[in-house]
Amino acid sequence: MSIDFRLTDEQRLVQETVRDFAEREINPYIREWDEKGEVHREIFAKMAELGLLGAPIWERWGGSGMDYLSFAIICEELERADTAFRVVQSVHVGLNSLTLMQWGTEEQKQRWLVPQALGEKLATFGLTEPGVGTDAANLATTARRDGESYVLNGAKTWISLADIADHFLVFATVDRSKRHKGVTAFVLERGIPGLTTGTLHGKLGIRAGNTGLINLDGVRVPVENRIGDEGEGFLIAMSAIDQGRFTVAAGAVGLAQACLDASLRYAHERHTFGEEIGRHQLVKQMIANMAKGTEIGRLLVWRAGWLKNQGVRNTRETSLAKWHATDHSVQAALDAIQIHGANGYSNEFPVERYLRNSKAAVIYEGTSQLHTLIQADYALGYREDRPLRCEPLPAQGWERGVAGPAGA
Ligand SMILES: Cc1cc2nc3c(=O)[nH]c(=O)nc-3n(C[C@H](O)[C@H](O)[C@H](O)COP(=O)(O)OP(=O)(O)OC[C@H]3O[C@@H](n4cnc5c(N)ncnc54)[C@H](O)[C@@H]3O)c2cc1C
Repeated sequence: MSIDFRLTDEQRLVQETVRDFAEREINPYIREWDEKGEVHREIFAKMAELGLLGAPIWERWGGSGMDYLSFAIICEELERADTAFRVVQSVHVGLNSLTLMQWGTEEQKQRWLVPQALGEKLATFGLTEPGVGTDAANLATTARRDGESYVLNGAKTWISLADIADHFLVFATVDRSKRHKGVTAFVLERGIPGLTTGTLHGKLGIRAGNTGLINLDGVRVPVENRIGDEGEGFLIAMSAIDQGRFTVAAGAVGLAQACLDASLRYAHERHTFGEEIGRHQLVKQMIANMAKGTEIGRLLVWRAGWLKNQGVRNTRETSLAKWHATDHSVQAALDAIQIHGANGYSNEFPVERYLRNSKAAVIYEGTSQLHTLIQADYALGYREDRPLRCEPLPAQGWERGVAGPAGA
């Protein structure tokens, strides 16, 4: 199959539309929102009007039916403005809606996926707990079967959108001693007795976005709210994270691009020793590294997206894209501050926000340490993706699930 690095007319239109949206709706206000820690949900509604809250979801379930490259472009352009708005793509679309499209029954899709794709309901993803992050097979939240219901008890923390979401895809264990084989997935709706949420304050970055906690105190849900089979939740969570990581990687490319854009502007404007600082070799080195890492990140993201469009399992490639792009975006933000000198240390310029925001992405959706281990294990042959099933193509090549590649 030939490879073509040119964007299609449709992908270019997506890029122009989202870039224009970000320039009008986010950039003029983001400094103040970030400073005050304000979450502007009306921007999500405007994103929904553009079809962004269901971008890669098939049209038959209320989505826009876009391919994964378009999805990456949306994430890149949103995070170029601010991380908080890319997070909505990652959590609402990537981790939640794409997972429902792949693993939900038709009834579950009609009930939860359709309103999410239309942007009528906001959705999130609750895996992390106060005592469990990277070691996600060790969940302490329990789901006890009781007749035709489950009763859930536990707490989730560091959950993006927790305090404003309507739908929650949460993971609990039916038997902790079984580790990943006990993990089971459920959709919960706001308003169900026993479910409460809160907001975490004092975050380093993503201050224009909500991050919070979910408490589950004897939440009783019917079996119909279970996604997949009992004990299948870990597989579901990992397939969701393949999608989430893709959006995080694409967003990190946007953040690095924003660092480069700001640095280029400043390098031309600022003069020392009688010339633009861009003329100094050591400044050029930082600019060159920023450009190199950003382009590599974009290519890795596009390759992962291309694989997703084919319905091919892409866990290794997505992890590599996420690891590189997020690590690079932190370095790009550090260098962008350096190029700005003292001005970079103030929120008069956006680069200090870029640094604070960039740091989250080397923690969530697999820390950089986890991706280092994953990549080493693939290289050493300790880890291998299951052979692909070709007929019908499941989204991204996971073994079970009913959806095909997005855009089909
Ligand atoms: C802003 C933000 C938003 C988030 N949103 C969500 C969300 O929407 N939903 C959700 O479920 N979670 C979310 N998270 C949580 C995130 O996924 C976890 O923080 C992440 O998985 C890491 O878990 P942890 O913080 O418990 O760190 P830990 O797992 O406790 O790790 C601590 C440190 O030890 C290292 N480490 C752990 N195990 C190993 C190992 N085997 N080898 C080497 N090093 C290791 C880690 O790399 C890290 O440096 C969010 C986090 C942040 C910061």
